[in-house]
Amino acid sequence: MIKTEQSIGLKQIANASQRYGSDQNFVIAGGGNTSFKTDEYIWVKASGVALETITETGFVCLNRQKLAAISHAELSTNATEREAQVKAMLELCIEGDKTKRPSVETSLHDLLKYNFVVHTHPTLINGLLCAQNSQTIIKQLFGNEVLYIPYTDPGFVLFKVVETEVLNYESVHKKSPEVIFLENHGIFVAGDTIAQIDAIYDTVMGKLNDAVKPPITFEHGSTKTIEHQGYFGNKVLKLRTSPLITDYTTNAESWQNVSIPFTPDNIVYCKSAYIFTSKGTDTPEQLAQLAEIARNFEKEKGYAAKIIGIQGVGLLAIEESEKGADIVLDVFEDMIKISRISTHFGGPRFMTKAQIAFIDNWEVENYRRKMAKNL
Ligand SMILES: [Zn+2]
Repeated sequence: MIKTEQSIGLKQIANASQRYGSDQNFVIAGGGNTSFKTDEYIWVKASGVALETITETGFVCLNRQKLAAISHAELSTNATEREAQVKAMLELCIEGDKTKRPSVETSLHDLLKYNFVVHTHPTLINGLLCAQNSQTIIKQLFGNEVLYIPYTDPGFVLFKVVETEVLNYESVHKKSPEVIFLENHGIFVAGDTIAQIDAIYDTVMGKLNDAVKPPITFEHGSTKTIEHQGYFGNKVLKLRTSPLITDYTTNAESWQNVSIPFTPDNIVYCKSAYIFTSKGTDTPEQLAQLAEIARNFEKEKGYAAKIIGIQGVGLLAIEESEKGADIVLDVFEDMIKISRISTHFGGPRFMTKAQIAFIDNWEVENYRRKMAKNL
């Protein structure tokens, strides 16, 4: 009996994951994760597996009783040590196949007392969650039915903040929250059926679409590979243009509105600083100058630039592979969309220096970055 319930649930969450994962309105560059649970076990999307193509085998099964114990564990006050301890404890909760790593957001999924959770980073929702007036507007649109969590460093600290808020909510409402908005991050939606989750997403997206007036539509950008004649070594260069990108690369002032990351995912894929220059890619001289700028950037920052905004031209991605360059462009173009949508809600609210530094140092995210390239 239980076995059947498990395999049906897993099949359902795999199907829903593919559906949300292949919809660019919900999932950009594979960001987000999903889960299914019974009383005893939770199956969470494995780190580095894409929602778009996930099957039942792309989930990691964890023992919920062991998982719950992490909440009360005595952990280091040093962030790096603490996250390493949590990672090790998470691995001890895995049932069966230990080759996959559970998402770092596993404990958040486990908190919500519903069978299914679909966590995504939709452009429209992040356009609000990365805006100055996000908290006020969410209160106006959704009242006290939803949870709103001000930005908190991801990992164990975020889990503890959400846990407290969920417990408060449960004592007032006598049920778990179905919707959690995470500032400058994304949304958790929970339900006992996939149909309930779909209905909640419809409501949230509908309300946000109504709140953005006049409605915004984004034209698809066009992308081409740039032949760089070895100026950038073995790297792949791809240039994307679109009317929206043109708006934000017009001058240094317009670029300011996308010059700092909005979400941890932005940093995971595009890093936390970007080049803006008037040097193009049309001639060998320009390419040589651009490569020089990129080398100086790398010397200063300690990492290679992933994104160059070329004034009046478009967005240039520098990556190890064609696929990697496409992902970087998708994520940065999403940042530009978020910036544009945020103007309807009081203007952009970027991550702070301290929030950025936390992600930059986070080993877990480095792991995800490495895995994303292999997708
Ligand atoms: Zn997330």
